[in-house]
Amino acid sequence: MSLTSLARKVRERRVDVPFIPVALALESVTKQYESGPNAVAAVSDVTLEIRPGELIALMGPSGSGKTTLLSIMGGILRPTSGRVIFCGADIGQMTEEDRSRVRLGHIGFVFQHYNLFPALTARENVEIALDLRGVTGRSRREQADELLEQMELGDKVDVYPADLSGGQRQRVAIARALAGTPSIILADEPTAALDSQNGRVIMTIFRALAHERQRAIVVVTHDNRIIDFVDRTVAIEDGRIKSDTVARSPEASAASLNGEIIRSRRVRDWAVAP
Ligand code: ADP
Ligand code: MG
Repeated sequence: MSLTSLARKVRERRVDVPFIPVALALESVTKQYESGPNAVAAVSDVTLEIRPGELIALMGPSGSGKTTLLSIMGGILRPTSGRVIFCGADIGQMTEEDRSRVRLGHIGFVFQHYNLFPALTARENVEIALDLRGVTGRSRREQADELLEQMELGDKVDVYPADLSGGQRQRVAIARALAGTPSIILADEPTAALDSQNGRVIMTIFRALAHERQRAIVVVTHDNRIIDFVDRTVAIEDGRIKSDTVARSPEASAASLNGEIIRSRRVRDWAVAP
Protein backbone atom coordinates (compact mmCIF):
# COMPACT_ATOMS: atom_id res chain seq x y z
CA MET A 1 0.00 0.00 0.00
CA SER A 2 1.47 3.35 -0.98
CA LEU A 3 1.95 6.11 1.55
CA THR A 4 -0.54 8.31 -0.21
CA SER A 5 -3.33 5.78 -0.14
CA LEU A 6 -2.51 5.01 3.49
CA ALA A 7 -2.71 8.68 4.34
CA ARG A 8 -6.00 8.90 2.52
CA LYS A 9 -7.35 5.96 4.52
CA VAL A 10 -6.35 7.55 7.78
CA ARG A 11 -7.93 10.82 6.76
CA GLU A 12 -11.11 9.10 5.72
CA ARG A 13 -11.29 7.29 9.04
CA ARG A 14 -10.99 10.50 10.93
CA VAL A 15 -13.73 12.17 8.96
CA ASP A 16 -15.99 9.15 9.45
CA VAL A 17 -15.83 9.57 13.21
CA PRO A 18 -19.24 8.50 14.51
CA PHE A 19 -21.57 11.09 15.94
CA ILE A 20 -24.63 10.61 18.08
CA PRO A 21 -27.81 11.62 16.32
CA VAL A 22 -30.03 13.56 18.66
CA ALA A 23 -33.29 15.30 18.32
CA LEU A 24 -34.08 18.77 19.55
CA ALA A 25 -37.43 19.52 21.10
CA LEU A 26 -38.98 22.90 21.74
CA GLU A 27 -41.79 22.91 24.29
CA SER A 28 -44.09 25.93 24.48
CA VAL A 29 -41.27 28.29 23.66
CA THR A 30 -41.99 32.01 23.87
CA LYS A 31 -39.52 34.84 23.37
CA GLN A 32 -40.13 38.49 24.20
CA TYR A 33 -37.35 40.93 23.49
CA GLU A 34 -38.56 43.49 26.03
CA SER A 35 -40.44 43.03 29.22
CA GLY A 36 -43.31 45.35 30.13
CA PRO A 37 -46.99 45.71 29.39
CA ASN A 38 -46.56 46.42 25.67
CA ALA A 39 -44.02 43.75 24.92
CA VAL A 40 -44.78 41.75 21.81
CA ALA A 41 -43.59 38.19 21.60
CA ALA A 42 -41.29 37.51 18.63
CA VAL A 43 -41.97 33.79 19.17
CA SER A 44 -45.18 32.56 20.84
CA ASP A 45 -45.84 29.16 22.33
CA VAL A 46 -43.88 27.13 19.78
CA THR A 47 -43.77 23.37 20.25
CA LEU A 48 -41.67 21.51 17.71
CA GLU A 49 -39.56 18.39 17.47
CA ILE A 50 -36.62 18.06 15.10
CA ARG A 51 -35.51 14.55 14.22
CA PRO A 52 -32.16 13.28 12.97
CA GLY A 53 -32.09 12.75 9.22
CA GLU A 54 -34.68 15.42 8.58
CA LEU A 55 -34.28 18.47 6.35
CA ILE A 56 -36.78 21.11 7.43
CA ALA A 57 -37.67 24.45 5.84
CA LEU A 58 -38.74 27.11 8.31
CA MET A 59 -40.74 29.60 6.28
CA GLY A 60 -42.54 32.83 7.01
CA PRO A 61 -42.62 36.50 6.09
CA SER A 62 -39.99 38.97 7.23
CA GLY A 63 -40.37 39.70 10.94
CA SER A 64 -42.33 36.52 11.66
CA GLY A 65 -39.74 35.25 14.14
CA LYS A 66 -37.67 32.82 12.04
CA THR A 67 -34.24 34.09 13.11
CA THR A 68 -35.36 34.35 16.73
CA LEU A 69 -36.60 30.75 16.67
CA LEU A 70 -33.40 29.51 15.01
CA SER A 71 -31.29 31.34 17.60
CA ILE A 72 -33.27 29.68 20.39
CA MET A 73 -32.86 26.26 18.76
CA GLY A 74 -29.12 26.84 18.58
CA GLY A 75 -28.76 28.01 22.17
CA ILE A 76 -27.72 31.52 21.13
CA LEU A 77 -30.83 33.04 22.70
CA ARG A 78 -32.64 31.93 25.82
CA PRO A 79 -36.42 31.71 25.57
CA THR A 80 -38.48 33.90 27.90
CA SER A 81 -40.47 30.80 28.77
CA GLY A 82 -40.71 27.20 27.64
CA ARG A 83 -38.07 24.52 27.29
CA VAL A 84 -35.45 23.64 24.68
CA ILE A 85 -34.55 20.00 25.17
CA PHE A 86 -31.33 18.72 23.69
CA CYS A 87 -29.82 15.37 24.72
CA GLY A 88 -32.34 15.24 27.54
CA ALA A 89 -31.26 18.57 29.00
CA ASP A 90 -32.94 21.98 28.88
CA ILE A 91 -30.38 24.20 27.17
CA GLY A 92 -32.42 27.29 28.09
CA GLN A 93 -31.58 26.63 31.75
CA MET A 94 -27.86 26.12 31.18
CA THR A 95 -25.13 28.57 32.09
CA GLU A 96 -23.67 30.53 29.19
CA GLU A 97 -20.55 28.36 29.40
CA ASP A 98 -22.49 25.11 29.10
CA ARG A 99 -24.63 26.42 26.25
CA SER A 100 -21.52 27.48 24.43
CA ARG A 101 -20.15 23.94 24.92
CA VAL A 102 -23.35 22.50 23.42
CA ARG A 103 -23.09 24.88 20.46
CA LEU A 104 -19.47 24.03 19.77
CA GLY A 105 -19.98 20.30 20.09
CA HIS A 106 -23.32 19.72 18.46
CA ILE A 107 -24.61 22.63 16.42
CA GLY A 108 -23.40 24.09 13.14
CA PHE A 109 -24.56 27.52 11.96
CA VAL A 110 -24.72 28.76 8.37
CA PHE A 111 -25.71 32.35 7.63
CA GLN A 112 -27.03 34.26 4.65
CA HIS A 113 -23.90 36.38 4.28
CA TYR A 114 -21.42 33.54 4.95
CA ASN A 115 -19.70 35.44 7.80
CA LEU A 116 -16.25 34.41 6.60
CA PHE A 117 -13.14 36.27 7.76
CA PRO A 118 -12.02 38.21 4.68
CA ALA A 119 -8.35 38.24 5.72
CA LEU A 120 -8.24 34.45 6.03
CA THR A 121 -8.08 31.84 3.28
CA ALA A 122 -10.80 29.22 2.87
CA ARG A 123 -8.62 26.73 4.78
CA GLU A 124 -7.92 29.20 7.59
CA ASN A 125 -11.61 30.02 7.91
CA VAL A 126 -12.31 26.33 8.55
CA GLU A 127 -9.22 25.91 10.72
CA ILE A 128 -10.50 28.60 13.09
CA ALA A 129 -13.64 26.56 13.70
CA LEU A 130 -11.54 23.45 14.36
CA ASP A 131 -9.22 25.42 16.63
CA LEU A 132 -12.17 26.47 18.78
CA ARG A 133 -12.84 22.77 19.26
CA GLY A 134 -9.33 21.96 20.35
CA VAL A 135 -8.09 20.50 17.05
CA THR A 136 -4.54 21.74 16.49
CA GLY A 137 -1.44 21.30 14.39
CA ARG A 138 -1.30 19.08 11.34
CA SER A 139 -4.53 17.34 12.17
CA ARG A 140 -6.33 20.68 12.05
CA ARG A 141 -5.00 21.44 8.61
CA GLU A 142 -5.83 17.96 7.34
CA GLN A 143 -9.36 18.09 8.65
CA ALA A 144 -9.91 21.55 7.19
CA ASP A 145 -8.71 20.35 3.79
CA GLU A 146 -10.87 17.23 4.00
CA LEU A 147 -13.97 19.27 4.85
CA LEU A 148 -13.28 21.64 1.96
CA GLU A 149 -12.62 18.67 -0.32
CA GLN A 150 -16.05 17.31 0.60
CA MET A 151 -17.50 20.63 -0.55
CA GLU A 152 -15.62 20.20 -3.85
CA LEU A 153 -13.30 23.06 -2.89
CA GLY A 154 -10.09 21.07 -2.73
CA ASP A 155 -8.45 23.43 -5.23
CA LYS A 156 -9.57 26.57 -3.35
CA VAL A 157 -8.01 26.00 0.08
CA ASP A 158 -5.56 28.89 -0.31
CA VAL A 159 -8.04 31.31 -1.85
CA TYR A 160 -9.46 34.32 0.02
CA PRO A 161 -13.24 34.84 0.24
CA ALA A 162 -13.11 37.87 -2.07
CA ASP A 163 -11.83 35.64 -4.87
CA LEU A 164 -14.55 33.02 -4.43
CA SER A 165 -18.03 33.05 -5.96
CA GLY A 166 -21.07 33.36 -3.69
CA GLY A 167 -21.78 29.66 -4.02
CA GLN A 168 -18.18 28.79 -3.17
CA ARG A 169 -18.22 31.09 -0.14
CA GLN A 170 -21.36 29.44 1.13
CA ARG A 171 -19.73 26.03 0.71
CA VAL A 172 -16.74 27.24 2.76
CA ALA A 173 -19.26 28.35 5.38
CA ILE A 174 -20.84 24.89 5.34
CA ALA A 175 -17.41 23.24 5.65
CA ARG A 176 -16.81 25.47 8.66
CA ALA A 177 -20.21 24.58 10.14
CA LEU A 178 -19.34 20.88 9.83
CA ALA A 179 -16.11 21.30 11.79
CA GLY A 180 -17.52 20.04 15.05
CA THR A 181 -19.34 17.05 13.48
CA PRO A 182 -22.58 18.69 14.58
CA SER A 183 -25.76 16.65 14.76
CA ILE A 184 -27.84 19.77 14.13
CA ILE A 185 -27.26 22.31 11.36
CA LEU A 186 -29.13 25.60 11.49
CA ALA A 187 -29.04 27.77 8.37
CA ASP A 188 -30.52 31.27 8.23
CA GLU A 189 -31.49 32.09 4.63
CA PRO A 190 -28.36 30.37 3.26
CA THR A 191 -29.44 30.71 -0.36
CA ALA A 192 -30.82 34.25 -0.26
CA ALA A 193 -27.65 35.79 -1.72
CA LEU A 194 -27.20 33.07 -4.37
CA ASP A 195 -28.55 32.50 -7.87
CA SER A 196 -30.91 29.58 -8.28
CA GLN A 197 -28.30 27.12 -9.57
CA ASN A 198 -26.05 27.73 -6.55
CA GLY A 199 -29.10 27.65 -4.30
CA ARG A 200 -29.91 24.19 -5.62
CA VAL A 201 -26.34 23.03 -4.99
CA ILE A 202 -26.49 24.19 -1.38
CA MET A 203 -29.85 22.48 -0.87
CA THR A 204 -28.53 19.26 -2.46
CA ILE A 205 -25.64 19.31 0.00
CA PHE A 206 -28.02 19.80 2.94
CA ARG A 207 -30.19 16.98 1.65
CA ALA A 208 -27.24 14.60 1.48
CA LEU A 209 -26.08 15.62 4.95
CA ALA A 210 -29.54 14.95 6.36
CA HIS A 211 -30.30 11.72 4.53
CA GLU A 212 -26.88 10.11 4.42
CA ARG A 213 -25.36 11.40 7.59
CA GLN A 214 -28.46 11.72 9.73
CA ARG A 215 -28.00 15.38 10.50
CA ALA A 216 -31.07 17.33 11.52
CA ILE A 217 -31.10 20.46 9.38
CA VAL A 218 -33.32 23.51 9.66
CA VAL A 219 -33.16 25.98 6.77
CA VAL A 220 -34.83 29.35 7.25
CA THR A 221 -36.03 30.74 3.96
CA HIS A 222 -38.72 32.60 2.15
CA ASP A 223 -37.72 31.05 -1.14
CA ASN A 224 -40.47 28.72 -2.34
CA ARG A 225 -38.10 26.81 -4.62
CA ILE A 226 -36.48 25.31 -1.57
CA ILE A 227 -39.59 23.34 -0.71
CA ASP A 228 -38.75 20.79 -3.43
CA PHE A 229 -35.69 19.72 -1.47
CA VAL A 230 -37.05 19.40 2.04
CA ASP A 231 -38.76 16.64 3.98
CA ARG A 232 -40.92 18.96 6.01
CA THR A 233 -42.05 22.57 5.94
CA VAL A 234 -42.83 24.52 9.08
CA ALA A 235 -44.62 27.81 8.43
CA ILE A 236 -44.45 30.56 11.01
CA GLU A 237 -46.47 33.77 11.18
CA ASP A 238 -46.40 36.39 13.94
CA GLY A 239 -44.20 34.07 15.97
CA ARG A 240 -46.64 31.16 15.89
CA ILE A 241 -46.57 27.94 13.93
CA LYS A 242 -49.19 28.11 11.20
CA SER A 243 -48.59 24.72 9.65
CA ASP A 244 -46.19 21.81 9.82
CA THR A 245 -46.34 19.64 6.72
CA VAL A 246 -44.44 16.65 5.42
CA ALA A 247 -43.16 16.94 1.83
CA ARG A 248 -45.10 15.55 -1.08
CA SER A 249 -42.26 13.41 -2.41
CA PRO A 250 -42.91 9.83 -1.18
CA GLU A 251 -39.25 9.10 -0.42
CA ALA A 252 -38.83 12.34 1.50
CA SER A 253 -42.05 11.67 3.39
CA ALA A 254 -40.90 8.18 4.25
CA ALA A 255 -37.61 9.55 5.56
CA SER A 256 -39.40 12.09 7.63
CA LEU A 257 -41.99 9.70 9.01
CA ASN A 258 -39.84 6.64 9.67
CA GLY A 259 -36.48 8.27 10.19
CA GLU A 260 -35.16 5.93 7.50
CA ILE A 261 -31.87 6.62 5.80
CA ILE A 262 -32.27 7.30 2.12
CA ARG A 263 -29.25 6.22 0.15
CA SER A 264 -29.96 8.38 -2.84
CA ARG A 265 -26.51 9.77 -3.54
CA ARG A 266 -23.07 9.52 -2.12
CA VAL A 267 -21.90 12.73 -0.54
CA ARG A 268 -19.03 12.93 -2.98
CA ASP A 269 -21.39 12.79 -5.91
CA TRP A 270 -22.79 16.27 -5.36
CA ALA A 271 -23.14 18.15 -8.57
CA VAL A 272 -21.32 21.36 -7.87
CA ALA A 273 -21.35 24.36 -10.14
CA PRO A 274 -18.09 26.18 -10.83
P1 ADP B 1 -37.49 37.03 10.83
O1 ADP B 1 -36.20 36.34 10.94
O2 ADP B 1 -38.63 36.11 10.50
O3 ADP B 1 -37.45 38.19 9.90
P2 ADP B 1 -36.97 37.95 13.53
O4 ADP B 1 -36.87 36.76 14.42
O5 ADP B 1 -35.71 38.59 13.12
O6 ADP B 1 -37.89 37.60 12.28
O7 ADP B 1 -37.86 39.05 14.27
C1 ADP B 1 -39.12 38.76 14.85
C2 ADP B 1 -39.63 40.02 15.56
O8 ADP B 1 -38.80 40.32 16.67
C3 ADP B 1 -39.66 41.25 14.69
O9 ADP B 1 -40.78 42.01 15.03
C4 ADP B 1 -38.39 41.97 15.07
O10 ADP B 1 -38.53 43.35 14.88
C5 ADP B 1 -38.23 41.62 16.54
N1 ADP B 1 -36.84 41.56 16.94
C6 ADP B 1 -35.90 40.78 16.39
N2 ADP B 1 -34.70 40.92 17.01
C7 ADP B 1 -34.90 41.83 18.01
C8 ADP B 1 -34.07 42.41 19.03
N3 ADP B 1 -32.78 42.05 19.16
N4 ADP B 1 -34.63 43.31 19.85
C9 ADP B 1 -35.93 43.65 19.75
N5 ADP B 1 -36.78 43.14 18.82
C10 ADP B 1 -36.28 42.25 17.95
MG1 MG C 1 -34.41 36.61 9.87
